Amino acid sequence: MLPKALTIAGSDSGGGAGIQADLKTFQELDVFGMSAITAITAQNSQGVSGVYPVPPEGISQQITAVADDIGADAVKTGMLFDEPTIKIVAEKAANYNWTNLVIDPVMVSTSGAKLLQDDAIEALKTQLFPLATIITPNIPEASEITGRSLTTLEQRKEAARMMYEMGARAVLIKGGHHLDETKIVDLLYDGTTYVYLSVPRLNTRHTHGTGCTYAAAITAHLAKGLPLIDAVKEAKTFIHVAIKHGFAVGKGPGPTNHAA
Ligand code: PLP
Repeated sequence: MLPKALTIAGSDSGGGAGIQADLKTFQELDVFGMSAITAITAQNSQGVSGVYPVPPEGISQQITAVADDIGADAVKTGMLFDEPTIKIVAEKAANYNWTNLVIDPVMVSTSGAKLLQDDAIEALKTQLFPLATIITPNIPEASEITGRSLTTLEQRKEAARMMYEMGARAVLIKGGHHLDETKIVDLLYDGTTYVYLSVPRLNTRHTHGTGCTYAAAITAHLAKGLPLIDAVKEAKTFIHVAIKHGFAVGKGPGPTNHAA
């Protein structure tokens, strides 16, 4: 039987990020993908032109429908948009006892659209992080969450510790936004050990949906039963290859969710 994964996230009509990136990634990794949509974005390679949140009851029903019948070996969250949505996800995670929960704390799209309300960041920290198997902030998100400037590796190590203390069982700070032009170093911390995942930086503008795809690949590998560190390492290889294969689909930056 195929492993099963559920993504709770926003829809990207352009097919590069969000729910669409997650489902494509699950499929590429031979995992049966399911979705609960939190918001519909009107979006293409040039940016987000509209955001339409799904009513809380609709989000809750989607999750219940999937969890009561099909079940999930791993669950991922992406764009959660507001506090009521976070509350629903936290309740479901506790009720269904999700043990593989990947929280990608999506806040703003690269094009600048707000994907999480400012007053929902606290809820993310207090309600969801304590239930997370791993959280996967990029550097700007980690900086927003911790209130720290994160220019050096030492500062990122300290931020990883701070986020671990918020209750997540592991923290992955993705290094793609660091200004180093030669390499990207992701930092994984599980409360005892720091693991550095380093790859050469690829020179491409086609990185739309990279964060979603990376977290979805971690989720897929957790669904398959890999230990966390192996799931992250496999996902890191997957996203590196996917960025290599990034391609233009419109006039703006293209997607990375096709690793073949
Ligand atoms: N749109 C949605 C619905 C998302 O979930 C995300 C992911 O973070 C994005 C857009 C952002 O994608 P990017 O910043 O890679 O363009």
